[in-house]
Amino acid sequence: MDYDLVIKNGTVIDGKGSKRRQTDIGIKNGLIATIGPISSKSTTSIDATDLVVSPGFIDIHTHFDPQLCWDGLATPSIEHGITTIVTGNCSLSLAPIKGKEDADKIVSMFGVIEDIKKATFDEAVPFSWNSFPEYLDHIRPKLGINVGALIGHSAIRLYVMGKDSQKRSANEEEIDEMCAIVSEAMKAGALGISSSYVDIDENGEPVPSRFADLAEKIALAKAMRQSGRGIWQVVPYFPDMKQQLDNIKELGDISLAANVTCSLQPVISSPASPDAKELIGALEQERERGARVYGQSMPRCFDLNMRLSETSMLLYALPGWKKIMDLPREQRLEKFKSERNSLVEEMKAAQGFGGSIPFLKVGNTKTKENEVYQGRYLAEIAQQESKEIGEVILDLSISDNLDTEFQLQNVINADKQAVAKIVSHPLCHFGASDAGAHITQFCGTGDTSHLLEHYVRETKTFTLEEAVQKMTGELAADWGLADRGVLEEGKAADITIFNPDVVAAGEEEFVDDFPGEARRYIRKSQGYKAVIVNGETAYLDGKYVQSLSGQIV
Ligand SMILES: [Zn+2]
Repeated sequence: MDYDLVIKNGTVIDGKGSKRRQTDIGIKNGLIATIGPISSKSTTSIDATDLVVSPGFIDIHTHFDPQLCWDGLATPSIEHGITTIVTGNCSLSLAPIKGKEDADKIVSMFGVIEDIKKATFDEAVPFSWNSFPEYLDHIRPKLGINVGALIGHSAIRLYVMGKDSQKRSANEEEIDEMCAIVSEAMKAGALGISSSYVDIDENGEPVPSRFADLAEKIALAKAMRQSGRGIWQVVPYFPDMKQQLDNIKELGDISLAANVTCSLQPVISSPASPDAKELIGALEQERERGARVYGQSMPRCFDLNMRLSETSMLLYALPGWKKIMDLPREQRLEKFKSERNSLVEEMKAAQGFGGSIPFLKVGNTKTKENEVYQGRYLAEIAQQESKEIGEVILDLSISDNLDTEFQLQNVINADKQAVAKIVSHPLCHFGASDAGAHITQFCGTGDTSHLLEHYVRETKTFTLEEAVQKMTGELAADWGLADRGVLEEGKAADITIFNPDVVAAGEEEFVDDFPGEARRYIRKSQGYKAVIVNGETAYLDGKYVQSLSGQIV
């Protein structure tokens, strides 16, 4: 047989948990044609001696929706071995929309919930579509990576109910209209629906999905299920454990009533619940009832950075600070100076997420005088200089033209043994990366490399076979990606080739490569030889190839 591409002599790990074996893979027309010794010469081949050849990794939790409008490779995901991303999470998708008003509302919600700026949307997201299928048609020709597209429940409600979507439950007619949208989207290739129990919009009001009653959710899930597949993804009300447990119970009801798989993001280790035993216990209870409810877990310590020149989730609950953070950057400096006293007072009482602010460490600074503060905790500086925390932040930031970096490290998902237990739990999927979102504070991409580097190579918590299965075959099976996620003849040729002795996630870098005067954190990878999407090489020897072989999956 003539192949388009042959991968020679690799250590093949199939994504199904089978033991590794040394062999060749032949690719033809975007599919895996042969797994086994290949003698015929092909025009192109990759020598994979001493390298692992595995299915391409799947990232089930991203917010690359806007980025795909100008970057069909969803950088930097592909260089971390990822060949499929899921978009439209957390009740937010860019379609359906009726017109400019809907688009503006969605942009505002993306700004508040995912930290992707209006300026970026204005410059690079055309909103030239109305329906979900039209949106898929817009992104499809530009894709270098595969996309599993969830339809956002908040977007659907906004489309059907307008302003009432944030006031009340839907009537029967409205539910019928929503179900028709879901059916149409699933027919066009959508992967499922996402919803949220927790998020708020730009005015502090609950997002539309939070006004839905159980009947509406079950109706939508049933409409989705008619397509033969479908995931119901949600963010629970994470500030309160009791409500989270109620959310999981409701997911069990939805799963049983509509015969769908539900996914809850995130299940992570926190100082209040290191092993997440309450959440995992609730997932197990639903499994006993026969429901399919999974958590999303991640191996990365949930670190983030704050700059007063950007956006920050740590300041959401401090209205005085938040008001200034919402201003254009040029106007902030004066306000931070003139409102100093009230800002300092407000920060003294910070709670919730804001309660972590004293644990921030000074990262990169701009002026020479501020260099001495690098690596020191705000609480420690405040004590030594007899200042309030708010004063320390303002003094450093104002002298650095608001560009001082403050780092939150080793607080959330930091207990590595507990994290390993959560990630390996059969009811926890590998996910929760939030890649493409919160880009001013952290880079969500790199968990795949981190799992292989730390939990396989360094601590041997997982075998390579187990880790690969977690990131590929298990997700493909549970999320309805039937034609990929494993190395098998006839399946899509989504393949990652890496060196298990070298693979690693790099440090975060703050770069200026986003449209609309926006900056973001990225993270490079190490140790990947090639990443192949539907038979075409998208990344080779440290370089992206501008391929367009991605599909809606
Ligand atoms: Zn999310």
